[in-house]
Amino acid sequence: MRIALVSEHASPLAVLGGVDAGGQNVHVAALATSLAAAGHVVDVYTRRDAPGLPERVPFAPGVTVIPVTAGPEAVVPKDDLLPLMGEFADALAAAWIADRPDVVHGHFWMSGLASLDAAGRVDLALGGHLPVAQTFHALGVVKRRQQGARDTSPAERRFLEPDVARRADTVVATCSDEAFELKGFAVPSARIAVVPCGVDTAHFTPDGPVAPRTERLRLLTVSRLVPRKGVGNAIEALGRLVRAGVDAELVVIGGAGDADHLETEPETERLRAVIDAEGLQDRVVLAGSIEHGELPAWYRSADVVICAPWYEPFGIVPLEAMSCGRPVVATSVGGLIDTVVEDVTGLHVPPRDPEALAEAVGGLLADPQRRRRYGRAGRSRAATRYSWSRIAADTLRVYGRLTDRERLALRTGEA
Ligand code: UDP
Repeated sequence: MRIALVSEHASPLAVLGGVDAGGQNVHVAALATSLAAAGHVVDVYTRRDAPGLPERVPFAPGVTVIPVTAGPEAVVPKDDLLPLMGEFADALAAAWIADRPDVVHGHFWMSGLASLDAAGRVDLALGGHLPVAQTFHALGVVKRRQQGARDTSPAERRFLEPDVARRADTVVATCSDEAFELKGFAVPSARIAVVPCGVDTAHFTPDGPVAPRTERLRLLTVSRLVPRKGVGNAIEALGRLVRAGVDAELVVIGGAGDADHLETEPETERLRAVIDAEGLQDRVVLAGSIEHGELPAWYRSADVVICAPWYEPFGIVPLEAMSCGRPVVATSVGGLIDTVVEDVTGLHVPPRDPEALAEAVGGLLADPQRRRRYGRAGRSRAATRYSWSRIAADTLRVYGRLTDRERLALRTGEA
């Protein structure tokens, strides 16, 4: 199959951990690579966000990243990208009319918008129907519910996103919670498939180098530094544990830049204030952004990995932790409801509840045997259910249904 993945703001080429670079970048890169490993040809279309990028960038065997010119050749925050999507769609349509893929898969609502626009033009120019699958990665309706007036998404997202969901040939939700939300958009269940994100189980392994650590019990968070990731709640939970006599520390990984350049981010200042208020200056390390390749060693150095977002469309970090054989304490939100199994691979707590978080983490820190049991079960769950080869196979089944349907329609048309 010739597969076009469209990811307007999240390029596989981007640096991870910054405000707009996170799970979607990892997802698109890994999905593309594993689809190609299964014998398919994959082009990833992303906005040209730096000067001097070549027309086509070989990314992995069978995978090419195609930077599309739309707006300035510079980083533009994703909330400012909507006005550029017309130009982006023009370029997609031209590329696909010249060389038609078999299936298109949009990632994020704006990519879906541009993909549907371009695919419609391909149908007019070439006949037939170019099928479009859509993965949202995040839903505006959830973001708005959580962030209210602080949601900086363009106002049009409110009606354009549900429209993309209804017009796509299929919506690939990443978790059951998202599938449930999509029904609110009046997307028929038959057009919703659930395929989770995956994890590189060969890279994130329980055994291997371990990052330096102290004698203290180590808690770890890995995330972009934005308030909704709940890093502040993890610090507050550590404060409670330390006051209760637990000798623990927290390593916070993430942020735009390394440990010495974090000051530029507003969230860092907020977190430093929480650290000061809790008197934890010597027990919390803001480690900054760590290269994805080096993360396994950090996961392995942790006794418990905390994922405490207020909401989370999917959340790849708990899978990475599980794949490294580490127990996870996670809030019961979004994709974390599916990935972390209560009292099997970790524990669930309500969001924004440092007290409950401290209790769950404290119980685990006091019980090394249970930590090991959760860790082993996490590794096994990640390897059997969330390997990228399995996710690629599930995704290919979805594409196969779409291309079969197209072939059937063409045959019926001919008859
Ligand atoms: N990540 C990283 N280095 C960092 C911070 C994050 O490589 O310093 C990666 C992390 O390993 C994970 C991704 O960024 O693969 C974050 O994905 P997740 O789905 O958990 O959250 P998102 O950022 O998409 O909201």
